[in-house]
Amino acid sequence: MGTEWMADGKCRDYPAGTCFPRDGVGVIIAQRICAQCPVASQCLEYALDNHIDHGIWGGRSERERRRILRERRRRRISNTDAH
Ligand code: SF4
Repeated sequence: MGTEWMADGKCRDYPAGTCFPRDGVGVIIAQRICAQCPVASQCLEYALDNHIDHGIWGGRSERERRRILRERRRRRISNTDAH
């Protein structure tokens, strides 16, 4: 996946580092910005594809992204088992 979508990211209107919060309040602020972002789905997929550990991407925290990846792996395994 390319990075051309980044030019349309809502976070570009905010100070650098906004989507790399250091506390829970920062996470909430970043997630509110992401909720209005037109490229949130591309952003999330980019972070998942590239196993990016830090920051809020596509409105999802590190922990949420790990959960999504675990769930996708689990689904892939169960689909493989079904064949
Ligand atoms: S989803 Fe959030 S982090 Fe990703 S580009 Fe949009 S505003 Fe930035």
